[in-house]
Amino acid sequence: MSKIIQPRPELDSLKSYVPMEEDACVVLSANESPYNLPESLITEVKNQLDVFNFNRYPDALGSKLRKEIASHYGFSDENIVLGNGSDELIQCLLLAYGGKERSVFTFEPTFSMYDLISRATGTRVYELKRTASFDVDIPSALEVAKEFNPTIIFLCNPNNPTGNLVSSEDIEIFLKETGALIVVDEAYAEFSGQTVIPLIDKYPNLVVLRTFSKAFSLASLRIGYMLASPSVVQNTFKVKLPYNCGAFSQMVASLVFKNRDVLMTQIEKIVSERKSLIKELKKLSGVKVHPSSANFVLIRTENEASFVWKNLLEAGILVRDFKEPCIKDCLRITVGKGEENKLFLKALKEIINAG
Ligand code: PMP
Repeated sequence: MSKIIQPRPELDSLKSYVPMEEDACVVLSANESPYNLPESLITEVKNQLDVFNFNRYPDALGSKLRKEIASHYGFSDENIVLGNGSDELIQCLLLAYGGKERSVFTFEPTFSMYDLISRATGTRVYELKRTASFDVDIPSALEVAKEFNPTIIFLCNPNNPTGNLVSSEDIEIFLKETGALIVVDEAYAEFSGQTVIPLIDKYPNLVVLRTFSKAFSLASLRIGYMLASPSVVQNTFKVKLPYNCGAFSQMVASLVFKNRDVLMTQIEKIVSERKSLIKELKKLSGVKVHPSSANFVLIRTENEASFVWKNLLEAGILVRDFKEPCIKDCLRITVGKGEENKLFLKALKEIINAG
């Protein structure tokens, strides 16, 4: 018996997700907030630690945080599930609604987890291409949806990595005209000001994903949430692990959510920095900038993207490059603090002029 047992055949074509971990002084690669929690909130976390029960399991249902988030949006806790990051909620949705003989639609290029987790769960993926400006071609998507009848349509809004939005009116067309669950991933919605959360009451097939990892400066703690109709929530609870969100994460997320006004200043700064970054990038010849409603900007450079990426790293600046053919020549730059963006722009100018 020397041969080791093999995993399910669905895994044959899968590659594990390897996050970029290069040493750099300026990290603009993972769409995190450049700002840590404000000092006042860190002090409050420290105070709460004095009475924290490290020995106890967390609240398995996440009841307190779920109630707080749901009531802010005018819903009940029956409309919400917490995840260990919104990544986990994508996995839960696919465990509940994907699988053999089922399929999903994605609009490429988009967030890679939809494809990866779909395939890991044996769910077929139809990758519909976005237009040259990275928009979703609604009529042709509807036509294909009628033919293939997907169980889930993933719509990342604003889209990672392109930064653009599909309008709420267009999302409503999908909600009305397909039988699929329409999963609108709003990981970056705080930077766009657009959301379809108010439509949840009207459409039982609408699922909205949100995260504390971006605008709320909590990438380290892994908390995301899903808002949907009670039936989708119940089905997600059937596949969710009981203690998926740690007690410390729930405690800090609750504190941050209650004090989200304090975070608004940071969000506004990022949005204003995005505007300046785009303005400066537009001045550079040999750089095409895509419009963005998120906390990152996608650029296409005349110089080879891999050359620019490598030289930026040598200058101590880490940005995101891509392997996918349609964006192989693009780089995604997370909006950093003003000083970080200046360092990036200075290095980019030097590389372009030398290249
Ligand atoms: N959705 C999108 C569009 C993302 O870009 C990310 C993170 N890069 C996630 C979901 C996952 O976020 P998290 O698991 O940290 O909540």
